[in-house]
Amino acid sequence: MSEQNFDLVILGGGSGGYAAALRAVQLGLSVALVEKDKLGGTCLHRGCIPTKALLHAAEVADNSRESEKFGVKSSFEGIDVAAVTRYREGIVSSKFKGLQGLIKARGITVFEGEGRLEGPKTVVVGDERLTGKNVVLATGSYSRSLPGLDIAGRVITSEQALELDFVPSKVAILGGGVIGVEFASVWRSFGAEVTIIEALPHLVPNEEESISKQLERAFRKRGIEYKLGVRFQGVTQHDDGVVVTLENGDTVEAELLLVAVGRGPVTQNLGYEEAGVTVDRGFVITNERLETSVPGVYAVGDIVPGLQLAHRGFQQGIFVAEEIAGLNPIIVEDVNIPKVTYCEPEVASVGYTEARAAEKFGADQVSSYEYNLAGNGKSHILETSGSIKVVRVNDGPVVGVHMIGARVGELIGEAQLAVNWEAYPEDIAPLIHAHPTQNEALGEAFLKLAGKPLHAL
Ligand SMILES: Cc1cc2nc3c(=O)[nH]c(=O)nc-3n(C[C@H](O)[C@H](O)[C@H](O)COP(=O)(O)OP(=O)(O)OC[C@H]3O[C@@H](n4cnc5c(N)ncnc54)[C@H](O)[C@@H]3O)c2cc1C
Repeated sequence: MSEQNFDLVILGGGSGGYAAALRAVQLGLSVALVEKDKLGGTCLHRGCIPTKALLHAAEVADNSRESEKFGVKSSFEGIDVAAVTRYREGIVSSKFKGLQGLIKARGITVFEGEGRLEGPKTVVVGDERLTGKNVVLATGSYSRSLPGLDIAGRVITSEQALELDFVPSKVAILGGGVIGVEFASVWRSFGAEVTIIEALPHLVPNEEESISKQLERAFRKRGIEYKLGVRFQGVTQHDDGVVVTLENGDTVEAELLLVAVGRGPVTQNLGYEEAGVTVDRGFVITNERLETSVPGVYAVGDIVPGLQLAHRGFQQGIFVAEEIAGLNPIIVEDVNIPKVTYCEPEVASVGYTEARAAEKFGADQVSSYEYNLAGNGKSHILETSGSIKVVRVNDGPVVGVHMIGARVGELIGEAQLAVNWEAYPEDIAPLIHAHPTQNEALGEAFLKLAGKPLHAL
């Protein structure tokens, strides 16, 4: 077995792991990156990128169906799944090539194979023993199921959903969170009948309640059915489909059941606990600076409890590299990480919901304003409805922004700057939002909270 030493050994080459590697070499550290599958991980190959390509194809399908509304004659003739797959795979493979090139150009040493922590600072992969002054664990996550619900046949997760070579006629989706509503949106645009089953009272239950309710209305209008506040009991499969039984006695019949009930951490049998790393329910426990219970061993991305998002992984990877290099990076709390759900209409948010802000700062210390996109020229042109809600502390900063409507995901950049820079609406109000943009709607909400609304009462 050959032995090699590095400043940093990283186990897992997904968003968190490769971001740590890129930043660490920039800071002059030598880096070994161990990946058993493909650099880029879930996000690039099975997550963000391929699903957003599908959602874009879905948007094009909707546009072609609705084009007459805008005076453009076209007809929707159907979905060519093989062509959608070529488009999706083309994007993934081009991004993959780009990432491989970048990793190589930056001088990161990649070890292909399944790695295992053996002792606190050593990762073994194949015949190599890689010892780091520091180690980053970044082994990511997998699609979870419920106890007794086996993923097989017509019961699938997002991985198989992405690979389908047909548009199902009727789909049941277990889970009304981000992944569930995104697939519901795609399949509906592709022509399927869709029913979402969600145990909590609302779709996208982690969002501001008024936004969830607007999404439910929009989905109902699109013909997407949902059953809320009801728990899954069981599923039976037969030759042509599945029958899903719910605890309230309802049944849902469909061709497929997509299980989208969250993602579990990949931490089992990797030597973490044997090396002294504290693991709780599979997640690696870290302090707020992402160091595990073993000094010099850090964890990033989906294995760390909290939001499971690619950009959180990137940020944590960069953070850990800078921490190791002694740069004392700032901490961004999970609540201040932007979240976008790319269904139609899109949902985007950052910071506290109004209810959580009231709990934290006191109900009488918080104000909010919800600007209806009906008043926004560009949204009218796009024929989208929705709203932008801004929550502030009275005589204090913006602490939350919550949006729904076509394309509002693109507005999250300004929203996250406002929240993370602790800007007051009065700071932003004098600044200019270009006309006509949807961005103006955010500007209108800031203007209103600064006491000088323009196109609002
Ligand atoms: C359908 C879907 C859609 C999503 N959409 C979005 C989105 O739009 N926006 C967003 O921000 N997030 C999205 N996500 C979440 C995002 O993909 C994850 O948060 C992100 O990939 C987590 O990064 P990570 O580095 O922690 O883990 P991963 O990306 O899972 O990477 C972990 C890597 O470690 C490797 N690995 C594991 N064990 C070993 C081992 N023993 N040895 C060597 N290598 C190992 C794996 O092969 C993998 O490449 C989506 C996820 C899914 C499933």
